[in-house]
Amino acid sequence: MLYLRDATVVDSDTLAFRRGNLAVEEGDAGRARFVDRVPSHARVLDCSGRLVTRSFIIAHHHLYSSLALGMPPPGRSPRDFVDILRLVWWKLDKCLDREMIYASALAGAMEAARCGATFVIDHHSSPNWPSGSLELIARALEEVGLSHLLCLELSDRDGAAAREEGLVETRRYLRRRQGLVGLHASFTVSDSLLASAVELARSEDAGLHVHVAEAPSDQAACLREHGVRVLERLRRAGALESPRTLLAHGVHLDAGGRARLKRSPAWLVQNPESNQHNAVGELFVDGLERRVLLGTDGMHGDMLASARAAYLSAQARGGLSPLGAWRRLRRAHDYLSQNGFSGDGPNNLVVLDYRPPTPVRDANWAAHAVYGLGRAHVESVIARGRLVVEKGRLVRIDEEQARALARRQAERLWRRLRS
Ligand SMILES: [Zn+2]
Repeated sequence: MLYLRDATVVDSDTLAFRRGNLAVEEGDAGRARFVDRVPSHARVLDCSGRLVTRSFIIAHHHLYSSLALGMPPPGRSPRDFVDILRLVWWKLDKCLDREMIYASALAGAMEAARCGATFVIDHHSSPNWPSGSLELIARALEEVGLSHLLCLELSDRDGAAAREEGLVETRRYLRRRQGLVGLHASFTVSDSLLASAVELARSEDAGLHVHVAEAPSDQAACLREHGVRVLERLRRAGALESPRTLLAHGVHLDAGGRARLKRSPAWLVQNPESNQHNAVGELFVDGLERRVLLGTDGMHGDMLASARAAYLSAQARGGLSPLGAWRRLRRAHDYLSQNGFSGDGPNNLVVLDYRPPTPVRDANWAAHAVYGLGRAHVESVIARGRLVVEKGRLVRIDEEQARALARRQAERLWRRLRS
């Protein structure tokens, strides 16, 4: 049992503030409850003057991009979104081998933990090294102390052998662990692969995790090749039937697509900074608010930054209140709990050393979260009742060693990219 002494706890749902000592149990079913006294000789974290609230969930990440930070740019400027994929990400993911996959997952997990996230929903791609890749990523996340929901990106873009290997790896992984069936995006997925993925998700009781209408080209390709837009194609294939299904982006859904999504039990993950980075536009939520989660799309592990970006980007498209941005940040708890996924109980917490120059209380907490709070305020992080970050230091792994490993693998990856 871990005790947080003299914490000011912000309820992530009601936003109520309550000061006291918190007893945090370990394990998947562990609770966190207020207690009058902290027993002597107990493991104690002093939280005087600190705020404590539920830790964060990254609802759409690509840990495999962690070693891209600072890498050499492509030979020429990409012309559009698909050009970015061809020149950057589809080159990078083909270079990944076992050591790089592990190192990138470790680097991304460290970054996520430092930013207060304890759960990562990841979408992985390593077409030349699919077998065993998800287990490697799971291990890296667990070494840092984080929980996860992983999938492998299935696609037809690298040919039949890579596609079949991906299906085999996905099935093998889902039989051992909680996870999802990953698909790249409609424009690189054939009808037969889509059918296989839907069937696999049904038989393993998993949802799908797929990029949807990220750029206009995804919709245009779908109309050209299948005569319908992306959401209708997915609906007809039975890909929208599970409440475990995550659709990433949805920037170019039209009103009909949004209506189809609203009628389905699937969820939409917004990645505002990535959308800005790729110049694909901004999400128009329009009636879907209660189904929208937030991710980072591999940009970083900082969900407070993602919430602020969602708040800012919404101002030109119908507006969003600070409380709306906070709810979007928190909606992944509903997704995980309603679907029975483990690893995100009330014993996952972040300790914030946040001392604003203005009053902070339940009524203005969301505004503080959007305008004032940032990763620099994350002091300690507790995952499944155990400390993973204590006063700014990762405590479950040797940080220096992990960073050195990541740098060595980044050098290898960048050399391979140049050759
Ligand atoms: Zn993505």
